[in-house]
Amino acid sequence: MTSRREQAADLQGWMTEQRRLLHQHPEVGLDLPDTHAHIDDVLRTCGLAPERHEQSGLTVALTGTDPDGSTRVLRADMDALPITERSGVDFASTRPGAMHACGHDLHMAMLLGAARAFADQPPRRDVVLAFQPGEESDRGALKVLEHDNLELGDDASAFAIHVHATQPAHTVHFTRDVFMAYGDWFQVDFSGPGGHAATPEDAGNPVEAAARFVLGAQALAADLAGEEHVVATVTELQIGNAVNVISASGRLRGTIRSLSAGQRSRLITGLEEAAAEAASASRVEAAFAFTEGYPAVRNDPDYVDRMVARFGEVLGADALTPMPRPSMVIEDFAYFLQKWSGAMVYLGAQVPGHHSFNHSDDVVYDESVLATGATMLLEAGDGF
Ligand SMILES: [Zn+2]
Ligand SMILES: [Zn+2]
Repeated sequence: MTSRREQAADLQGWMTEQRRLLHQHPEVGLDLPDTHAHIDDVLRTCGLAPERHEQSGLTVALTGTDPDGSTRVLRADMDALPITERSGVDFASTRPGAMHACGHDLHMAMLLGAARAFADQPPRRDVVLAFQPGEESDRGALKVLEHDNLELGDDASAFAIHVHATQPAHTVHFTRDVFMAYGDWFQVDFSGPGGHAATPEDAGNPVEAAARFVLGAQALAADLAGEEHVVATVTELQIGNAVNVISASGRLRGTIRSLSAGQRSRLITGLEEAAAEAASASRVEAAFAFTEGYPAVRNDPDYVDRMVARFGEVLGADALTPMPRPSMVIEDFAYFLQKWSGAMVYLGAQVPGHHSFNHSDDVVYDESVLATGATMLLEAGDGF
């Protein structure tokens, strides 16, 4: 019997071809017709019969040789970002305004590699391979979770890898609890009488309110961060269109990130208060609106301990690095880990000398990690 690591190594060249093909033809969001068709085709060529629904991905159920009653779910995301590529690689995106800048092309190639290896040599446990669209902002995870193949008991577990463009290639980064943050969005609309620039004492001034709010949000985040890291970032500001007029309205938007439900609610309440205070001090009204983003990705400590022990044996203990704190990035794999225990980890894929992180238009990834990632998926499928 071939070891999973040997199987993955044998598939390195084929996974690289798959990755490059997917990289050249990126699609954004939930509607990924070419990507769906390609994955479907490859899985069928492997002799597998995927459950496929447009806009909700593909899943394949595999029967284990020694099922212990619970199923292992392995997930890859399929969507690209609305970015025009400037990486300079010779297999760059052929589609202006779309780029696999987050590395989801590598995730798909690794899971296709796992599909081929499992087709040759079945998993020990029952396994469902899940390819999902719309990770970046469309909650595609919730759609794929509706597949018949994913109607599983509470005893199932789920595993996913995310490549990391600025960590050394082949290193695995993990936490034993929260892995990625809660992420949400806010908007503040200031409205007031406005007035003549020469008589600010008579005018309510949204510019002044916005300035107070930005500083208030920073102070709030700094206060709360004493307990555990939080982020409150104002990213957008739209106020005024003349040098001699105090505008009667203004809008701010921004992002918050937090690592616990408690901190998240303190942050939201605090921002709403900061908006009210800034408005009152600037003689305008404030309307605060909050939009729910993704919940935190929460790893299961026992699962992580078993995973670390097994990956240590297969990849070498040096490859495994506990993270000093959770990532402030967000991920809709959170919804898988709300249903089942399991884990998500980062797999370092840095090309030496390159320092652009995921989502950059010039980001590059070391493709030699495909075999490492496929090994991890195969081991997770056999069961920790
Ligand atoms: Zn991303
Ligand atoms: Zn991503």
